[in-house]
Amino acid sequence: MNKNSSNIMALSPTASNKRETVCIFGTGDFGRALGHKMIQSGYPVVYGSRSTQASSLIPKDAEVLSHAEAAQKATIIIIAIQRQHYNFLTSLAEILHGKILVDISNNVKLNQYPESNAEYLAQLVPGAKVVKAFNTVSAWALQSGTLDASRQVFVCGDDMEAKQMVMGIVRALGLTPLDQGSLLAAQEIENYPLQLFPMWKFPILLSFGLVTFFFFYCLIRDIIYPYVYENKDFSFFIAISIPNRICPILALILLSLVYLPGVLAAIIQLYRGTKYRRFPDWLDKWMLCRKQLGLVALAFASLHVLYTLIIPIRSFVRWRISSQIVSQALSNKTEPLNNTNAWLSDSYLALGILGFFLFVLLGITSLPSVSNNVNWREFRFVQSKLGYLTLVLCTAHTLVYGGKWFLSPSSYRWYLPSAYMLSLIVPCTVLVVKFVLIFPCLDKPLTQIRQGWERNPQYSE
Ligand code: NAP
Repeated sequence: MNKNSSNIMALSPTASNKRETVCIFGTGDFGRALGHKMIQSGYPVVYGSRSTQASSLIPKDAEVLSHAEAAQKATIIIIAIQRQHYNFLTSLAEILHGKILVDISNNVKLNQYPESNAEYLAQLVPGAKVVKAFNTVSAWALQSGTLDASRQVFVCGDDMEAKQMVMGIVRALGLTPLDQGSLLAAQEIENYPLQLFPMWKFPILLSFGLVTFFFFYCLIRDIIYPYVYENKDFSFFIAISIPNRICPILALILLSLVYLPGVLAAIIQLYRGTKYRRFPDWLDKWMLCRKQLGLVALAFASLHVLYTLIIPIRSFVRWRISSQIVSQALSNKTEPLNNTNAWLSDSYLALGILGFFLFVLLGITSLPSVSNNVNWREFRFVQSKLGYLTLVLCTAHTLVYGGKWFLSPSSYRWYLPSAYMLSLIVPCTVLVVKFVLIFPCLDKPLTQIRQGWERNPQYSE
């Protein structure tokens, strides 16, 4: 036995020289992959199958017996069979009495049955201790060893001892068990592999909506307006100029939307005078997807940086610079350096660089490998204090971009202000409200409320 596997055995709760035999019902894809992994980890495996004939697909160190014979050889039986075939287990109820049945099944639709598969199994074999586990790991990942993305195994069950034993096996296989409580949690665990980026839906749909809105807004202002009034064709703006307007706008709005729910929650708590009443559902959901909102914002900010870097090599920009030089040469007049413009441009760039640097830092600290290594206070400091500083820098970057033309009537086209001015509405609102909330007359009661104080306690002594 190699050094690693002996280490695993030593860490296992049932540490002994010989591991307990595990029975697997079903020699399908998952049953075989799990059996293979278990044998590698030192568990004797016995299969319970409808056919006891040897097959080259079944791990060669495993025994294949009838269901009844196999069940008698082990305390833990893994049911690697689809739920619709569970019925035959009722005939084995006597043999399965007191055994630990591990339900690993998944469904094809969310909430496909009124009860979870694990609860259904517990109803079919009432004398057994049912534990839900392994359903979030794929047979392919088990077999190929590519378990990086799905190392976590959710485990739930009503019998504590049974659950601990299954968690011991999970650990011995090099996976991380996560105790999700009683068997009531099984439905949620079964729904988990069927969800399609649940936390990303809102940020992506919102970004899509905002991109569409700002695309048409910029199209009207920057392409249709000059075409109608000056007969100039700037349709090529669609390739770089307009995306490079939309990306920073989206980055700023989405970043401010990461902090807006926190501000709204503070107002609600102050108004209610307690933290013990639930927030509205929409606010709860919004809070849960703040990380995803921030990451989408970071993606737009990164695109803005890339678009900005290629500005000097754009044909239109090179043409504009050379024609300015030529017109100065022809008129034999050099334009003096405008100090105000130089200050505005340098400050705008400096604020953008610093803002982007902190933006990246926020993104890095949201990675599980980093956030798992900082304590709660450090995480709060980065995500809240540095987060607000990022928002301040990025908002200032946009304000300075407007420079002398900010709010100037000449910048309106068909009464429409520049798109960047619209992007400032939400971040400025968030920053102003946050600033007001810092005042001691509001900050003090808010801190007390968050520490458990109530203005009108519901349950007074
Ligand atoms: P599978 O390849 O179709 O194998 C299912 C096995 O169930 C069959 O090989 C058969 O084994 C047994 N079986 C079929 N009909 C039966 C019946 N009428 N009565 C008794 N036993 C019957 O399916 P699988 O992919 O291994 O999946 C098995 C379970 O694991 C499912 O509940 C699935 O949701 C879950 N799961 C699978 C994966 C995956 O990546 N495949 C991942 C997570 C969870 P015998 O011929 O030996 O009797």
